[in-house]
Amino acid sequence: MSTDEPSPEVYESGRGMDAHNAAMREIRARRDETYDPREPTRVWLDEDNTPDGTRQSLTIILNTGGCRWARAGGCTMCGYVAESVEGGSVSHGDLMTQVEKCIEHERENADDPARLIKIYTSGSFLDEREVPAETRAAVGETFADRERIVVESLPDFVDAPKLADFTHQGLETDVAIGLETATDRVRHDCVNKYFDFADFEAACAEARDADAGAKAYLLLKPPFLSETEAVADMKSSVRRCAAVDGCHTVSMNPCNVQRYTMVEDIFHDGGYRPPWLWSVCDVLESTADADAIVVSDPVGHGSDRGPHNCGECDDRVQTAIKDFDLRQDPSVFEQVACECELTWEAVVEHERSFGMPLAR
Ligand code: SF4
Ligand SMILES: [Zn+2]
Repeated sequence: MSTDEPSPEVYESGRGMDAHNAAMREIRARRDETYDPREPTRVWLDEDNTPDGTRQSLTIILNTGGCRWARAGGCTMCGYVAESVEGGSVSHGDLMTQVEKCIEHERENADDPARLIKIYTSGSFLDEREVPAETRAAVGETFADRERIVVESLPDFVDAPKLADFTHQGLETDVAIGLETATDRVRHDCVNKYFDFADFEAACAEARDADAGAKAYLLLKPPFLSETEAVADMKSSVRRCAAVDGCHTVSMNPCNVQRYTMVEDIFHDGGYRPPWLWSVCDVLESTADADAIVVSDPVGHGSDRGPHNCGECDDRVQTAIKDFDLRQDPSVFEQVACECELTWEAVVEHERSFGMPLAR
């Protein structure tokens, strides 16, 4: 891939994104929290499905100063920049202190070290302005005794030599790419993300050159789509991603309403509802035969700001989804039912995304 230095200005100019970006900058400017550069944003233990089976996982969200695209304005649903460090960069020493704290958390809460390490940055771990080359190499060494590592990155920064920091340690390595949707128009206009599906395909090829794999992260129901459109877009996106060589896993994130985002503004004005959990089930069930592991981990399920059904069945449906994640068996969805499924069916049938005139 090109090693040109990307900049938000380059992405912005001439791509028709100026209005979205100006709105997002104005929304983000409302935040006033600051964060400690020696504290990770979040860390937790879980269990994940990998191409080699299910594994205990340690997930780390490093605080790196934030995504440079978010500084330009950024994606309509993404509140992560609000959690980043003021001023925009975190030193090697501080980043390694964050990693140490995560390992400490694991020591205190798990019997054994996790075989799978997942590192997200709310941006790009492979962007050297966020994570210096020195830190990347040190992270590779730190986790050399594990089995697999996943690092998050935008496609621009995926380069085979960077991934060698992990593959040369003997780690199975994956790049997690926030593609959001395989449809360029939806990615550009609803998500305000600047790159194309072709860039994702190129990044997967680059990962393959490094003997690494790729995981696509997709966003179910960005703003401006009806429930029906969102589900249809997701079903085709899962299949298109699964067909890309090297992309062995698709992780579908149902959109939730994060603070200081355009989605939050629209939500407050009554113009946005996060997706139904029934929609998540529908997508997983209908794409179960796709040639990839397809998973979803709905964040904030059951709340107004997160993916939800009626309030009565949310926990049960979430359990079925988590069960599907590990076993990939669509029959888990036959075991959950609720009256609200009829409401969801009516929504899918009747919801329209354009402004409906009341009279003409
Ligand atoms: S979704 Fe990713 S690319 Fe978009 S603003 Fe957030 S961190 Fe940046
Ligand atoms: Zn229900």
